[in-house]
Amino acid sequence: MSSSLVGWKDLPLGAVAFISAKEYPTGEWAVFQPKIDESKCIKCGLCWMYCPDSVYRWDGESVPVPDLDHCKGCGICEVECPTKAIQMVRV
Ligand code: SF4
Ligand code: SF4
Repeated sequence: MSSSLVGWKDLPLGAVAFISAKEYPTGEWAVFQPKIDESKCIKCGLCWMYCPDSVYRWDGESVPVPDLDHCKGCGICEVECPTKAIQMVRV
């Protein structure tokens, strides 16, 4: 076995990005974004749980509210909503 293997502590420092996604309104990329019919919402939180961009704000009791400045329009929340309360609409 080769003895040239090194541990991660021996590797040189690489680039580190000190930025926050909060500063970038990626919602501008979206072609479709979610619209919630509050009358159909059972407040299950699945949209909040499944959104890959943590777009939904939810207090655990009320209807989740999407921060559309950071929604890329993937449509996962619409697919996962059990009551079809979410509809993707053209921006
Ligand atoms: S997944 Fe649908 S029913 Fe559940 S909280 Fe979200 S909008 Fe409401
Ligand atoms: S469309 Fe995608 S990114 Fe936008 S709120 Fe739904 S799950 Fe999140």
